[in-house]
Amino acid sequence: MRITDSRYDRDRLRLALAYRLIGLEARTRTIREATQLSDDRIRRMYRDYFGANAANTVRRHRGKSPRQMSFFRRSLEHEQEAATLGSLLLRCGLLRRFLNGFRPDIVVVSQFCDVYETFTSLWPRPHVSFEHAWHLWQVFCRDDEYVLANCPGCDALWVRDTLEILPDVCPTCRRGLFEPGR
Ligand SMILES: [Zn+2]
Repeated sequence: MRITDSRYDRDRLRLALAYRLIGLEARTRTIREATQLSDDRIRRMYRDYFGANAANTVRRHRGKSPRQMSFFRRSLEHEQEAATLGSLLLRCGLLRRFLNGFRPDIVVVSQFCDVYETFTSLWPRPHVSFEHAWHLWQVFCRDDEYVLANCPGCDALWVRDTLEILPDVCPTCRRGLFEPGR
C-alpha cells in the first residue's frame, strides 16, 4: 500500500512539475529530461495548458535548446545574470557532479525551478531564459571549462572561462564599479 501511495505521489509530482516547466517556458526536450514523461504526454499537457489559459503570456518555444556559452558573454548584464544564477545554485546545494550524465530527479528539478523563480524576482525580464539557465546549470555541474570563480578584485562569484586569459576579473570590477575598502 505504501509503495502504491508513493508511486501515486511521485506521478502526481511529475505532472505538477511538467505544468510548472511549461509555465516557465521550458521546451519539450527539457521537460522530457526533467520528468521522464513521453513527448506525446507533454504535447497533450501543452494543449491542456494553453487551452485552459487562453489569455496567458507564456510562450511555447520550439526547436533546439540554447547551448552556446557565448550567449553569457554578450554584455556585462548577461555575465551578471549568469553569476547571480550560479551563486543561487551554489547556495542551494544544486552544483554537484552527476554520475552517468546529467539526470537530476524531480525533487532536484523542483529546487532548480525555485532557484530560477528567485532569480527572476531579482532580475525582472532577464536576458537569461529558463532554457539558458538549464544549460548553464549543466555546465556548472561539469565544472571544467566554465567555472564559478571568486573574482581576485572583489571576491564576488563570476563565470570564468578557464581557457581564456582575459577577462580575469568580474564584470563589476571591469566596469570600475567596485572600490576596495568602501
Ligand atoms: Zn570583481
